[in-house]
Amino acid sequence: MSTLYRGGFVYRPVDPFATAMVVTGHEIAWIGGEEAAAGHADAVDEVVDLDGALVTPTFVDAHVHTSMTGLSLEGVDLSDALSLAEALSRIETAARARQGRPVYAHSWDERAWPEGRAATSAELDRASYGGVVYMPRIDAHSAVVSSALAAASGARGRDGWHETGLVLREAHHLAREAFHAGITPADRSRHVDLALKAAAEAGIGLVHEHGAPHLSSAEDLATVIAAGDRGDGPQVMAYWGELVEDEQAARDLVARHGARGLAGDLCADGSVGSRTARVRRPYADEDTHGCAYLGVEQVRDHVSACSLAGVQAGFHVIGDAAVETVVAGLRAAADRVGADVVRRARHRLEHLEMPDTDAIAALVDLGVHASIQPAFDAAWGGEAGMYAARLGAERALAMNPVASMAAAGMSLALGSDTPVTPFAPWEAIRACVNHHNPQQRISARSAFLAHTRGGWRAGGVDDRGYLDLGQPASFAIWSVGDLVVQAPDDRIQTWSTDPRSGTPGLPDLSPGADLPVNLRTVIRGRTVFDREGALT
Ligand SMILES: [Zn+2]
Repeated sequence: MSTLYRGGFVYRPVDPFATAMVVTGHEIAWIGGEEAAAGHADAVDEVVDLDGALVTPTFVDAHVHTSMTGLSLEGVDLSDALSLAEALSRIETAARARQGRPVYAHSWDERAWPEGRAATSAELDRASYGGVVYMPRIDAHSAVVSSALAAASGARGRDGWHETGLVLREAHHLAREAFHAGITPADRSRHVDLALKAAAEAGIGLVHEHGAPHLSSAEDLATVIAAGDRGDGPQVMAYWGELVEDEQAARDLVARHGARGLAGDLCADGSVGSRTARVRRPYADEDTHGCAYLGVEQVRDHVSACSLAGVQAGFHVIGDAAVETVVAGLRAAADRVGADVVRRARHRLEHLEMPDTDAIAALVDLGVHASIQPAFDAAWGGEAGMYAARLGAERALAMNPVASMAAAGMSLALGSDTPVTPFAPWEAIRACVNHHNPQQRISARSAFLAHTRGGWRAGGVDDRGYLDLGQPASFAIWSVGDLVVQAPDDRIQTWSTDPRSGTPGLPDLSPGADLPVNLRTVIRGRTVFDREGALT
């Protein structure tokens, strides 16, 4: 089967005049201009008129919790509920549709509601006709539970239990565990499929799944890997966040889980929002330094073991003090097993929100990749955002130093940490281009590269994530309203100019501009998402 796509813009920086592409089987067979495309039209099985659409390689989301994302997508999203009454009415609708099965209703914030308060167990009981409802707040550190879930979990009366049905701390952990224990293998498969479908729709061709004993389970990871192997959606690279102390344990663990590395959400600290990210100076709004979950020796032993086994190691690390610990541990590992052995294993760090210049230099020296979430700066950065409330404006503006990392030569991969933020690659690129701190903005082209090739590199694969002859046919086709076309000298000039970044071939990414709309996602020659009626 061969297909000619013509009459659009094919994003290929070495060939800015490309308008057409031929896909044969799983591979890209040809890329070129309109004149030559005419010669291919008769030789192919199918011709698709792009009608000015932009063809890019598929994106890589380097930080994904797949089944949790599916659970959220299937559940009741309350992030835009305008009142508690509306939230309860949505829960009632879902409870009816689910015919007695548990309801997951998430992301509410009582501060946005005129009632100014959380739901109560009694209200959830009424809305669900006495069913199981788990209703985590937007920060996921507290929840409201129905009476049925309170009873089943044993949360009632435990530390953090409130008579209204609000649960924190121990009571919350019990309720969450009981809710998750009720998720069947069939539910989990459905959640994974839902999430991967959403990724495909967002133009993502590869997700890095981050499982860990404290977050998910071996069965969960296996389900995600199997779904990726089916070939009818995004590819999956899996990470397992569990600490090891020797080389053999590292080998055994990656083999047992089919994981690419022992990295991901192996937590050196927590998050800024919950004041558990480990920082050098105390938080601005509470006298705490946050939590340190790992010491230098643990990092050293894990990195040494993984390096010797040739396995990627990595950590979830956010606060500056946690970064310091991880860097010291990496250096100690390099002293023990040799810097070259550490570099060869190509370790990676997730989030890496507060590295200083020294830390960046040390990480670049050891060949460590950064897997970052630009949406975090977009959502919480700046002088007036959540980061500033927690840490003060000065530290908030210094967070997520994307340009400093890129300038130092650090290899970057972009991700969403979904369900924390949704699959949204163009938003991530836009967040890099429009970083709250003007000094930390990078070009659209650099950000695009980080969200495509950078993601493959962070997974240990150097030669993927761009459109070229012989490359796998993994691409997305985007409707781009603002793409500028000029036709000087009777020649179609096929690149646009983003007025902010001046990036040929990429759409306008200024703050108010309409972002590209995905029309089709093709992964290794197979169409895995097709917008109804968009391409003929
Ligand atoms: Zn994560």
